[in-house]
Amino acid sequence: MKKIIETENLRTNFYTYEGVVKALNDVCITVNHGETFGLVGESGCGKSVTVRSMMRIIQSPGKVESGKVLLFLDENGEQEAVDLLQQSESYMQSCCGDQISMIFQEPNAALNPIMSIGEQVAESFLFHRKKSLSEASLERLNAQDCKVPFKGIFKNLYKKYHEDENAFVFKLLSHIPLLNRWDFLIRQEAFKRAVEIISKLGIPHAEDIAVQFPHNLSGGMKQRIVIAIALACSPMLLIADEATSNLDVTIQAQILELLKDLKKKHISSILLITHDLGVVAETCDRVGVMYAGSLCEVAESRELFGNPSHPYTKALLESVPKFHQEGALKTIEGNVPNLVTPPAGCRFHPRCKHRMDICDKEVPNLLEIGKNHSVACHLFGDK
Ligand code: SF4
Repeated sequence: MKKIIETENLRTNFYTYEGVVKALNDVCITVNHGETFGLVGESGCGKSVTVRSMMRIIQSPGKVESGKVLLFLDENGEQEAVDLLQQSESYMQSCCGDQISMIFQEPNAALNPIMSIGEQVAESFLFHRKKSLSEASLERLNAQDCKVPFKGIFKNLYKKYHEDENAFVFKLLSHIPLLNRWDFLIRQEAFKRAVEIISKLGIPHAEDIAVQFPHNLSGGMKQRIVIAIALACSPMLLIADEATSNLDVTIQAQILELLKDLKKKHISSILLITHDLGVVAETCDRVGVMYAGSLCEVAESRELFGNPSHPYTKALLESVPKFHQEGALKTIEGNVPNLVTPPAGCRFHPRCKHRMDICDKEVPNLLEIGKNHSVACHLFGDK
């Protein structure tokens, strides 16, 4: 199966006054073409730090110390791997939104309260698709019924823009407010595309919604708009970081259904970050389970839920309340470790019922124990 993105031994630390928090410990995950990969674990286990490290949006005092994040691009039928950690800021800016998009838990934080919904979705097109917008604007100007004043001047500008978007004249025009209006057709075209994508996401009356502001919309609707922004340029990978956690269950089900549907039609793969095992079982093809900054088990969804093998995965699944459960809920004894001084060897060993002598001495490697099923536990290696 073709890979879309892969992390190799990703290691991220946070330099705090209390000491160095070892948040990620050699995390290796792969997302393949056409699949939904779920990254699951309790809060604070490093799921979000993993995707933020991948996208290089870890903020100070955090730092990605080592590892690789390989993005696989199709070049003339061949797959070429680009290490995102080695690319320039401008490469990352053009990659985010175009090749990879992210949606977060809190739509209010992602939307600008003083910009209309349509303008915010259109921004994505204006940033990544300006050439195709200028092409469409030129076609519009060439149409017989187009009545734009100074049509000839605009035609020349759009033609020139199409040839060289970095030409001096455009830099000059963008700095002179009165002449800055040259690209109004481009903005109109971007707005038109924004309305189209809003309507594709099943939002009724897309044209009316596009002129509204975020405070006019409900939480579920805002999250749909955030998805519209993320999908505007048809990225190959959508990263959804706890994207449904703040929504009530009915809206959550609608958004998950929408993501499933979008994966079929518009995007290749989804990397879903969640602490909700129900969401994983519903949505994901493969799952990675994280504990204290380490990946402990990776398997196909069906296999993981039917045959969990790592003691932490088993304990996690046992702690999910059952429909006919009687008596006290099961919990995992002990506490999550302080990652300033993480336990030596297997980070789960202080809480593990199957602990052996080797467990606090050596870090277990992720070993394949079955088809598409890997576990990092000394129970499965040569002890
Ligand atoms: Fe438990 Fe040892 Fe396996 Fe860690 S490596 S999960 S401590 S048995």
